[in-house]
Amino acid sequence: MGTQLAPSQLDHRPDPKSAPSAAIIGGGCAGLAAAVRLSAAGVPVTLFDSSHQLGGRARSITWQEQTLDNGQHILLGAYARTLDFLQTCGLAPEQVLLRLPLKLDMAGEFSLRSQSALPAPLHILAGLLQAKGLSWQERFAAVRIMAGFRLRQFQLSQDMPLQQLLQDQPPRLIQMLWEPLCLAALNTPLAEASAQVFLNVLRDSFARSKTDSDLLLPRKDLSQLLVDPAVAYIQQHAGSVRLNTPIESLRQEGSGWVLQHGDEQSHFSHVIIATSPFRVAPLLAGLPELAETASQCAALDYQPIYTVYLQYEAATQLPDAMCGLANSLGQWVFDRGQLYGQAGLLAVVISAAGPHQSMTQAALALAVDQELRQHFPHLSALSWHKVVAEKRATFACRAGLKRPGHQLSQNLWLAGDYVASPDHLQDYPATIEGAIRSGELAAFELTKSLK
Ligand SMILES: Cc1cc2nc3c(=O)[nH]c(=O)nc-3n(C[C@H](O)[C@H](O)[C@H](O)COP(=O)(O)OP(=O)(O)OC[C@H]3O[C@@H](n4cnc5c(N)ncnc54)[C@H](O)[C@@H]3O)c2cc1C
Repeated sequence: MGTQLAPSQLDHRPDPKSAPSAAIIGGGCAGLAAAVRLSAAGVPVTLFDSSHQLGGRARSITWQEQTLDNGQHILLGAYARTLDFLQTCGLAPEQVLLRLPLKLDMAGEFSLRSQSALPAPLHILAGLLQAKGLSWQERFAAVRIMAGFRLRQFQLSQDMPLQQLLQDQPPRLIQMLWEPLCLAALNTPLAEASAQVFLNVLRDSFARSKTDSDLLLPRKDLSQLLVDPAVAYIQQHAGSVRLNTPIESLRQEGSGWVLQHGDEQSHFSHVIIATSPFRVAPLLAGLPELAETASQCAALDYQPIYTVYLQYEAATQLPDAMCGLANSLGQWVFDRGQLYGQAGLLAVVISAAGPHQSMTQAALALAVDQELRQHFPHLSALSWHKVVAEKRATFACRAGLKRPGHQLSQNLWLAGDYVASPDHLQDYPATIEGAIRSGELAAFELTKSLK
């Protein structure tokens, strides 16, 4: 990533009204989105990150001269704020993302396609009625529950575990459809997952426009997609980025904030904290009035995502760029040759906690390779493998989860995929879209406070 480091020019004490200056602590999707929106509004920003690179949980890594991602990410057509963010940063979404009408193929056992000739939600309902690998009884059960969700406008009077909401659904339908969707969307097991957040995602992707359910597969690595264009935009708008700069604490001074990093202090009129949630409590340690926010952040639990990269001969190709895997350690396999030109490289995603966590990387890669061969017997010999284990990939999106709000004080905000939306019907799981929405909301509130 070609980030030019600019020193903080903000060593003076700002008067928040006459010379607003915003610090953003954390340059994941939420911090980047906040920085881009503030830059667009003409507010000078300084973006701090503790790491040597931006992107946080959506970043590229280099492995033996190959560019991989810390995890294979997919987006949905419903990710309106993400698409807008890409456009603002100068990217054409249709060029950097492969748009595919929804198609879930579980390795020959189950197949669901949206019917793109029909408007939403009929495109999904008709798809369910024609789904392969289900009995008529299972298809009707799926359509009936979807129609019921729509009738109640995807709202529950009280949140509950998704398993409870699906208790009358046939077990095979749960195994083939609901469980993979729940893991893909919430990365939380069905027995714990928030039914309301699942319905929020279902509503946004299935019930509005038929393109909302499209799968958008990145054709660029995550740094090229999400980070580099945003950094260029911020710098073109007089903002600066400081890498390798962990903020250790913040304290109020006058009407502004003092950020401590190493022996240095920087002064800002406004601050957005956009770190991962487990880094929030130490930052708020000197602010007893925010003890509740600190403890809500500290109380969150996490779920892992493992990505197993397997390199086969260059001629190896899967039937599709993304295929589902039934009864396997992994849930999805991506053909990086079709997406990124990395011929023969497959990426298998293993969501949520499971027995794979106690395996060595080599044993896990070999087990995944063996499972893939059952579905795709034509695979050549494996030439190398790499497992990327993100142990705290996402917060556990449990039923009834207490999320902190975004406004911490008059000129201090919180942003991140885990932060509550103003309306709980907009709450999202840990996703790029959730993070970008939250960063934009904090930036919007900050800009509003200046008027
Ligand atoms: C393996 C994996 C697969 C995923 N798959 C998908 C997917 O398919 N689709 C999808 O939409 N989402 C997916 N996600 C989730 C998505 O990546 C996250 O929800 C999103 O990136 C979170 O962004 P964030 O800005 O809220 O937090 P983070 O990305 O955690 O950013 C926080 C930033 O703060 C920095 N920081 C921390 N402490 C400090 C400090 N004291 N000072 C300065 N900086 C600090 C960190 O270095 C980091 O850059 C996946 C995540 C993972 C890990």
